[in-house]
Amino acid sequence: MGWRLAAAQAATSAALELHYHLRLEHPSGHLVAVEIEVSKVDEPTLDFAIPAWSPGRYAIYDFAKNLQEFSATRADGHPLPWSQPDKETWRVDARSAGGTVRVRYFVFANDLNGSFSQYDTTHANLNGASIYMYVAGHKQDPVALDVETPAADWKIVSGFSLSGDQHSFAAANYDRLIDTPMEISPEVTTSEFQESGKTFRIAVHAYAESPGPRKELEDGVRKIVHSEMAMMPAPDFDHYTFLFHFAPDIQAGDGMEHLNSTQIMISQPLDSGGAREAVEVAAHEFFHLWNVKRLRPAALGPFDYTREDYTPSLWFAEGVTSYYAYVHL
Ligand SMILES: [Zn+2]
Ligand SMILES: [Zn+2]
Repeated sequence: MGWRLAAAQAATSAALELHYHLRLEHPSGHLVAVEIEVSKVDEPTLDFAIPAWSPGRYAIYDFAKNLQEFSATRADGHPLPWSQPDKETWRVDARSAGGTVRVRYFVFANDLNGSFSQYDTTHANLNGASIYMYVAGHKQDPVALDVETPAADWKIVSGFSLSGDQHSFAAANYDRLIDTPMEISPEVTTSEFQESGKTFRIAVHAYAESPGPRKELEDGVRKIVHSEMAMMPAPDFDHYTFLFHFAPDIQAGDGMEHLNSTQIMISQPLDSGGAREAVEVAAHEFFHLWNVKRLRPAALGPFDYTREDYTPSLWFAEGVTSYYAYVHL
């Protein structure tokens, strides 16, 4: 019966106040500094965990391997004891915390793709599951996020806001937080268009002096959005962001769908071949809005980040998405 009592207590534990703080300080070291301040703590221990995988990805990524220098303190800076019961969990002894626990750690980030993160002198491209720990039992609690950029000309582009100068954000819960990748850069350029009463933003980081065939890319994206929106029910967002990278030096391209944004990495420059590939991937990822993100196979959610989620319906999720992507190109 003991476990039943424990489970009942966990299910009814009051919401915590969760405040995440990202500091981008030393780009050449590829280290993203994360602080999580947790208030209204009345539990004797808090488990901070980093996901083993990311929704939409069908493999274990072991994000814990990039975490460094974990520490935990009270609000006044006094250290709190912690232990690591397994490789992705940090258990903080909160008995003397006085209601507030503050943890800090660094994430080594030098992978540009739809799963990991990269922070260097040109940008911070952040995928939430590789950056943010969650508090076990409290993934449903609302989250506040503040981001400090290295300089004022670094714009923040994400599904959170259409303003590149906004630095404070709110997410309904941890799932939303990590389903909102961020591109933070002085080099990213954006344009917007309207479709069916919603705003669509195209953000491009192209690592090149010449702007490339930007119009070809924008016309292609506009066409697939128009066509897919005309066929499918209206999605439940006000704005949607396509985050494109044209990075000839990465090993492979990638595409990853999110709640109201998508990350698309093309391993070519933004020339006409690169633009064409980008529009093809965009057609596929945008269609995931309806197939997977909203009509996803039951086994893909709600998410348990401690283990892989395999589903026999993937052939449907990916196959149908690819079919409709080509119908709309
Ligand atoms: Zn970038
Ligand atoms: Zn897909």
